[in-house]
Formats: sequence, C-alpha cells, structure tokens
Amino acid sequence: MTPRIGVLALQGDVREHMHALAACGAEPVAVRRATELAAVDGLVLPGGESTAISKLLEVFELLEPLRQRLREGMPAYGSCAGMILLANEVLDTRPDMHTLNGIDMTVRRNAFGRQVDSFETDLEFTGLDDGPVRAVFIRAPWVERAGADVEVLARVPSGPAAGTIVAVRQGNVMATSFHPEVTGDLRVHRLFVETLVRPRAGV
Ligand code: GLN
Repeated sequence: MTPRIGVLALQGDVREHMHALAACGAEPVAVRRATELAAVDGLVLPGGESTAISKLLEVFELLEPLRQRLREGMPAYGSCAGMILLANEVLDTRPDMHTLNGIDMTVRRNAFGRQVDSFETDLEFTGLDDGPVRAVFIRAPWVERAGADVEVLARVPSGPAAGTIVAVRQGNVMATSFHPEVTGDLRVHRLFVETLVRPRAGV
C-alpha cells in the first residue's frame, strides 16, 4: 500500500518535505483545505513560522478539522514550526497562537538563543540504528517538558544546550526541532512513513 501523506502547505518549506516523502515511497499531497485533509492518511507539518501557520490554519478553516483528525489518531510529523504547532503548550509565543494538542509537551519557541540561533550537530536518534543523524536547527524550538506518555527520541549531545530534548513521539505523532528534509538523509521521514504502513500497536 502506498500511503497518501499530506504536507500542510500554508507556509514554510513544503516542497522539501514533498520530495523527501516521495523518495520514501509515499504519495505526497499538498494540503490547504479541509477536503484535502480528509483525503490523506497522515500529515507532515513543515518548518516555517509557527504563528503565521497558526493564523493561516484559522483563515483556511483547517484548525478544527486538523484537531479532530489528530484526536482520531491520524499519524503526523512536525518539523520545527510543525513541532511547535503539535504541542499542547507553547512558551515565548503570541497569546493568540493556536495549538493542535498532538503531543503532550511544552515547547519553547526560538529557544536556543542568539549564540546558537542556527546550528548543526550529529545526534543519536532512537529507532535509527545506522549512525547519527545530521540535525540542522534554524531558530529552532526545544521541548521543555515531555509528558509521561511521550517518548524522547533525541537530545542535543554536547555544547551549551547539551541534554535538551529535540525529537519526541507520542503514539503515531512525531516531532523534531530540526529539519531532516534539508540534508538528504531520509531516515526520519522513512520512520514516519513506517508508522503509516504499520501503525504502532496499542496507541
Ligand atoms: N522560529 C520559528 C517559529 O517560531 C520556527 C523556525 C523554523 O521552522 N525553522 O515558528
């Protein structure tokens, strides 16, 4: 079965995710309206500007349909701004920003501060055994609190932010602070596509 995976296409690096998904054998579909959302098996929320995407979710009347599909268990993967949107609590954001409550976590926007505003590092990623993942952080968030049912998949290995949580999964919803779609390493996308082909039991 070829899963149809939507990429939320309101703002951000949509094209890179579409390419990565296609390269993993999925059928990528741009999602801008509720009818398109209804027709996909899973959804990628790309990086970009989370407050802008939040506003556009409202304008395009996608907010409630998306919350509904997440409640019903649709697999989703959010990168950077996408991670922020999937959280149930966001720090350092606008008071009117919407959250999708896909993962029980508190995320801080633009968390790494000026010194390491944007940076790259290699990190160990649970579930990916064949070597570390090159992680590109661009004005990235971090996970400040991960709920009891949230599995931590990766942390920053060293430097001033050592130990910080930067990849998580709860059920079939996954999020990373960084952008695997820009490195050509398809393993994170493949891991997500796997959850559609073989949903994780008991979640
Ligand atoms: N700083 C952005 C935000 O708050 C996220 C950056 C990104 O997605 N690369 O939405």
